[in-house]
Amino acid sequence: MIPVIALVGRPNVGKSTLFNRLTRTRDALVADFPGLTRDRKYGKALLDEHEFIVIDTGGIDGTEEGVETKMAEQSLAAIEEADVVLFMVDGRAGLTPADRDIAQHIRVREKTSFLVVNKVDGIDPDTATADFWQLGMDNMYQIAAAHGRGVSGLINRALTPFAEQALQQAQEETGLVDLTDEQDDIDDQDNPTVNTEEQAENEYAYLQSLPIKIGIIGRPNVGKSTLTNRMLGEERVVVYDMPGTTRDSIYIPMERDGREYVMIDTAGIRRRKHVSEKVEKFSVIQTLKAIEDANVVLLVIDARENISDQDLSLLGFALNAGRSIVLAVNKWDGLDSEIKTRVKSELDRRLGFVDFARVHFISALHGTGVGHLFESIQEAYQSATKRVGTAMLTRILKMAQDDHQPPMIRGRRVKLKYAHAGGYNPPIVVVHGNLVSELPDSYKRYLMNYYRRTLDIMGTPIKIQFQNSE
Ligand code: GDP
Ligand code: GDP
Repeated sequence: MIPVIALVGRPNVGKSTLFNRLTRTRDALVADFPGLTRDRKYGKALLDEHEFIVIDTGGIDGTEEGVETKMAEQSLAAIEEADVVLFMVDGRAGLTPADRDIAQHIRVREKTSFLVVNKVDGIDPDTATADFWQLGMDNMYQIAAAHGRGVSGLINRALTPFAEQALQQAQEETGLVDLTDEQDDIDDQDNPTVNTEEQAENEYAYLQSLPIKIGIIGRPNVGKSTLTNRMLGEERVVVYDMPGTTRDSIYIPMERDGREYVMIDTAGIRRRKHVSEKVEKFSVIQTLKAIEDANVVLLVIDARENISDQDLSLLGFALNAGRSIVLAVNKWDGLDSEIKTRVKSELDRRLGFVDFARVHFISALHGTGVGHLFESIQEAYQSATKRVGTAMLTRILKMAQDDHQPPMIRGRRVKLKYAHAGGYNPPIVVVHGNLVSELPDSYKRYLMNYYRRTLDIMGTPIKIQFQNSE
């Protein structure tokens, strides 16, 4: 499970600066979902092999009314959602009463936390930190977020226990399974490449024997829990009080037409006493974790609402994670044809960038179209796990070049020589050739589409990586 780091601290200590450095993204998800305030920002980060989700509570600038209360609320919510808390203070400004308040919140929560003294650039680090020992936190780190100093060491220190835990868990899991030789090979590597078509077939068969994990995501009230119930088949749903923390989704295994699935329930249906009861408020962290852990993301959109920035951000997260995607436009019942036409053209206009994803118009309430979702989910999973050997990938590369030659670069002809698989989920094709670093994007796109068409890959992004070989 992907770990979550929360950045908390009073305004101006450098939370956003650190957030931006860690995520290097402008399209972070901002929590303005109903029931949540806009003051938390969520991003996916990758640093020295550590993948994690980072939460920034930096939306409060200190001038709002009731800033103290607001800050406390935000910090508490973020602490609740996180595995690790980075409590940031300003090494130049020294200790303030607001710092003491936040330290107090963190102490009672008993979360793994680090005291991060920021802005130590150009000042004496020992003087900068001297004040803060009073807060009584053992793990003190000095960084300069603006310059990146100390950041890598801090993150490594904070996340190494999670990486070790994940490794241990993986080892335990593989130890329990009776593996054939091929499967051993698969589990030895995270994302193996195959060479021969026979290897490809074996690995594909193995991957098809695993349950497909479906992450049902979407904004509040789009119909996720109604849909989850429908997909499970209402008679099977046992609703009971489920212990567990609110930031973890519940995994519900199910079977349909001889195929196993695991539904990742972000809507909290299993925690309700009655189906109609809403106990769960929407959780961004649950949603992001479900995306990470799913094989196929089922994004539910409400036909009766406009497509929002949050729909697009959720889609962006799924795409960045390389997930297969199926789109369900829900509440399609009882709409007149004019509205249907308008909704369809809005989808075309705003979701054109995921043209590989199947779109279903459904009614979770009446069950219309719900069964067909499974066909697209299977298709997407099969596409994402498609295993193709070197010979076939190289043959397709040749065909693509025969149909449409790569352009000349500084008078030299680009030659793409061979290709092999670089992994699955999403499928990665590694292409070797000369001058590949200068290959224009338009030709890269052409190749990607060529592979998509020839291999009949639907529902998943494809990645093409280029390696230079003269
Ligand atoms: P936030 O309110 O906690 O999110 O703080 P910001 O990230 O917006 O930073 C507040 C101010 O501190 C900005 O002017 C930053 O440029 C500055 N700042 C952030 N990190 C550093 C640092 O490492 N060194 C110095 N000198 N300034 C920094
Ligand atoms: P969630 O917050 O995404 O889990 O949404 P719910 O499943 O709780 O649904 C929110 C509201 O939309 C409820 O009142 C549902 O009855 C209603 N709803 C869900 N699916 C449909 C549908 O297909 N058609 C119509 N008309 N209403 C629906």
